[in-house]
Amino acid sequence: MSTTPATAVPFFPPALFEADRAELIALVREVGLDPEQRFILGARTAAFEELLRADLGAADVVACSSGTSALSLVLRAMDVGPGDEVIVPAFGCAPLASSVVAVGAVPVFADIRPDSMTMDPDDAERLVTERTRAVMPAHMFSVMADMPRFTELARRHGLRLLEDSAVAQGGVLRGVPAGLWGEAGVYSFVQVKTGGMPGEGGAVITRDPALGERVRMLRNHGQRPGRRFVHHTLGVNSRFDEIQAAFQTHRYAGFPARLARRAEIAAYYTERFTPLAGRGVTPPPPDRDGRCHYVYTVLADAREALAVHLAAHGVASHVYYPSPLPAHPAFTSYAPSGARWPVAEEAARRHLSLPVHHLLTDVQVRQVADLVCAFATALG
Ligand SMILES: *Cc1c(COP(=O)(O)O)cnc(C)c1O
Repeated sequence: MSTTPATAVPFFPPALFEADRAELIALVREVGLDPEQRFILGARTAAFEELLRADLGAADVVACSSGTSALSLVLRAMDVGPGDEVIVPAFGCAPLASSVVAVGAVPVFADIRPDSMTMDPDDAERLVTERTRAVMPAHMFSVMADMPRFTELARRHGLRLLEDSAVAQGGVLRGVPAGLWGEAGVYSFVQVKTGGMPGEGGAVITRDPALGERVRMLRNHGQRPGRRFVHHTLGVNSRFDEIQAAFQTHRYAGFPARLARRAEIAAYYTERFTPLAGRGVTPPPPDRDGRCHYVYTVLADAREALAVHLAAHGVASHVYYPSPLPAHPAFTSYAPSGARWPVAEEAARRHLSLPVHHLLTDVQVRQVADLVCAFATALG
């Protein structure tokens, strides 16, 4: 490793929250010394939920312990369970399948589209059976799934529509925020997500007040808010932290500017990379609508060589999903024998994510773009 230069462009910077350090320390003290001594699900969580709800125009926002937990809470609230099938993308993160298994249902894997890497609505429709209860598209890297098509598909087949918008907080497609296309969506507040924080948390976003109320009960052992020790339904502990809630509320004013910086960097990358499509490096589709700039992901024929080339010049990159979900030992039992997901397999082989976070400087952004362009040009 001694020949590797110091990382000039880290994938995620170590100083994500440095600008808010004083506020965070003050909040630890404030919540710690508050005579109420409420460290979870107090007034600060309620205020953060209301801030998000009002900004999104949602019926309800329910903060919970993680994005993964948010997915399971919604599936439970929809009464998805044993005997039910849920159609999920074959390419993506483990919670897409594990949240379905967690409620006793069966994940059914649909292939993805080659350009957006999001679930292919035509393949999803092919997989609908009389056991299908829900369809769960996910927004991927920086592109929102084709929600108009999934909305139409869900309506036509009478399916519940749950949106894995964990990476897409701040994304908007045709005027509708990510999370509000489905009956419910989720956000993850893991530090690296667009609305991330220094710790674990997530939220359910819904336009259905009754669903919101169910999720609110389920996240706290099936109790109604404000009435403890009466358990109306079998719930879980998926509660939210008061210090983090206050910190999220504090940082929310800066969210649009951070998103705008990410979008600006992504637009620059796309402008630089569009001419490379015939040279073995393909950027995401160029549309500006329905974009969520979590990470910026290209498809590269020589993916490993590109990653090595970037690393040699101090630029970190990342392969998120080296194999499709149904190929993982945890999920092979849900993969029909002989089934293939050729587009997901190719994306797993070719995708490479580049840093797009808001703290990148113009010099760093240009450096990343120059390196990718030089690599593709050398390939001819
Ligand atoms: C991060 C992520 C999740 C899970 O969120 P956690 O807060 O890490 O549990 C779910 N789905 C997708 C697409 C994600 O990227």
